[in-house]
Amino acid sequence: MINLISDTVTKPCSKMIEAMSRAKVGDDVFSADPTVNLLQERIAEMFGMEAGLFCPSGTMTNQIAIKVHTQALDEMICDHYSHVYQYETAGYGFNSGIGVNLIAGENGKITRRQIEAAIKPVHDWLPISKLVVIENSCNKGGGSYYTLDEIQPISALCKEKGLGLHLDGARLFNVLVETQEDCKEVGKAFDSISICLSKGLGAPIGSVLIGNKQFISRARRFRKVLGGGMRQAGYLAAAGLYALENNVERLKTDNDRAKELGQLLKEQNYVESIRPVKTNIVIFDLKEGLNAQRFLKKLENSEILASPFGPETIRFVTHKDFDLQMFERTKKVLSELEI
Ligand SMILES: *Cc1c(COP(=O)(O)O)cnc(C)c1O
Repeated sequence: MINLISDTVTKPCSKMIEAMSRAKVGDDVFSADPTVNLLQERIAEMFGMEAGLFCPSGTMTNQIAIKVHTQALDEMICDHYSHVYQYETAGYGFNSGIGVNLIAGENGKITRRQIEAAIKPVHDWLPISKLVVIENSCNKGGGSYYTLDEIQPISALCKEKGLGLHLDGARLFNVLVETQEDCKEVGKAFDSISICLSKGLGAPIGSVLIGNKQFISRARRFRKVLGGGMRQAGYLAAAGLYALENNVERLKTDNDRAKELGQLLKEQNYVESIRPVKTNIVIFDLKEGLNAQRFLKKLENSEILASPFGPETIRFVTHKDFDLQMFERTKKVLSELEI
């Protein structure tokens, strides 16, 4: 089976497992796991931030960030496609008691101007606009990305207006291999960043939240109350360290393959439209009258798995376990598919 459902489906390679089994560990609830500490420091340092926090998932790092940045009756501003709005079970309401102020951006991206217009004036009857969350790359936006040129004006606005700025950087490295931008410059633009190790980077578990010391020390308390205080988590952090050293550069291959699949799909008679392919995600709409579930069934008959992203919409995500041979076979299947 060729699995294009997500880049979360990757399994650790034998070298990663070896690195995990050799990890020096301690009790991370006491901050005494040397491998967790090293991973947290390494990612923080990479982006010029003071501290990091290793968590089981990207949902947890985002939820903790929202919690630290806001108080009940505040609101966060984000694009309507955002993961924090769409796919975190309305956790912003449950965990933080805040509202959400949605912007309809372009392929998941919002601008300084749109944010400025969305910030609410202060009245007793209005939520307080406290936090902006942007996503890079934008998952539901078809893997689109912001460049630093687009982020910096947003960052300046947030500073001017006293709003926090959080980056959901689940797939940030898929962006950075495209733009070749400096991690420290990216870090400067945000108050906090969440990065997933379990997506394209290929670790089995884990995300890291980075920010300043005060932010991370508050974040640690919320990680604990969410049940995310883990003990000998160094075995997992070791996978993250291995991924940072070995699996970042290769993300370019995933991006390039996705772009090529996008090109090929554009020429197929069953495709109505396709979101611009910028990183490792391909989202396309089927011609009117075609149904996503039926289309996926056909693909599955040719041993390709993908996910529905709407009644007529399909998503493919490329990743390290989607190898050259699978790539070639997928192209063949897509160009010969009888619909
Ligand atoms: C995957 C993802 C997350 C975090 O998801 P988990 O499955 O909880 O690790 C956050 N944001 C985006 C954009 C994602 O794609």
